[in-house]
Amino acid sequence: MTYAGRLAPSPTGALHLGNVRTFMISWLRARSQGGKVVFRMEDLDHPRDKPGAAQAAVDDLRWLGFDWDEEFVQSERREIYRDALDALRRQGLVYPCVCSRKDVENAQSAPHSGEQLFYPGTCRGRFASWSEAQCFSRRTPCWRFAVSPGTVVAFEDAFAGRFEQDVLATLGDFPLARDEGGAGYTLACVVDDLLMGITEVVRGDDLLAATPAQIVIARALAPWLAHIGRADAQIPSFCHVPLVVGPDGRRLAKRHGDTRISAFRAGGASPEAIIGVLAASCGWAEAGANLSLRELLPRFSLSTIPHGPSIVGGLVRDVVCT
Ligand code: GLU
Repeated sequence: MTYAGRLAPSPTGALHLGNVRTFMISWLRARSQGGKVVFRMEDLDHPRDKPGAAQAAVDDLRWLGFDWDEEFVQSERREIYRDALDALRRQGLVYPCVCSRKDVENAQSAPHSGEQLFYPGTCRGRFASWSEAQCFSRRTPCWRFAVSPGTVVAFEDAFAGRFEQDVLATLGDFPLARDEGGAGYTLACVVDDLLMGITEVVRGDDLLAATPAQIVIARALAPWLAHIGRADAQIPSFCHVPLVVGPDGRRLAKRHGDTRISAFRAGGASPEAIIGVLAASCGWAEAGANLSLRELLPRFSLSTIPHGPSIVGGLVRDVVCT
């Protein structure tokens, strides 16, 4: 089977060194083995999506030398997500939930770290429909997946190694979408990876712990895939690479200074200087090298990428000085 990878930006802000490093790894992983690249704009996250950010991301990526074979926009695919959601509803696998984040936090029996909260199933079986849930709470509900006892998912990540999670014990009934029609990140991402024939997902390791839930959804969609004539769709394999962080060890953000590609462009940096710096951080080039994406094809290897997060401070200094 031909390798198919994807670039899946969310237009919630400008592209910066951190997300470009992950896209670079993803693109090289696909192209270095003659694979195809699918571009998918994940623009379902209103109101966090910023006007103009989608086009700006495309412009930045093209300027940096990225290309792709197919292009999709999630906001144009709502009917597909609704159909998938309906199938899960008919199987009794999803239900509307009106608990706020605070409610869920208060229901924790033990402190849970990170962004993922354990949800004990408070709203399971509580409402007959989304509108009933909405009338009850006056808050927009979310769809949750009713996880069966003993749902343990294990997979071999191409970078992070073996990962195993007892989904019910760790997450409980995890959220699927904050949209009545199912057009939310988690469900849409799983549906699209299946329908777009993605063979491997390369992305940041902030999503590693969310992957077992995505595999659970993908498995549950098998009857729907057969129904729509896509029984051939395969669950992709995964490759989660470390994020770029600030000197404080936290995920790259505005507080770490301006690492936007647009700012480097405006300051006169070349694409090769930016790619060179990111390549050096992956062990494929000496510091200060100027390289195009294509020149990196023969140098690409997952094995030289450091397993710890990369610190952005040095990267910015190197781009600015080149
Ligand atoms: N659109 C997501 C992001 O930009 C990535 C999702 C994924 O790779 O599955 O964070």
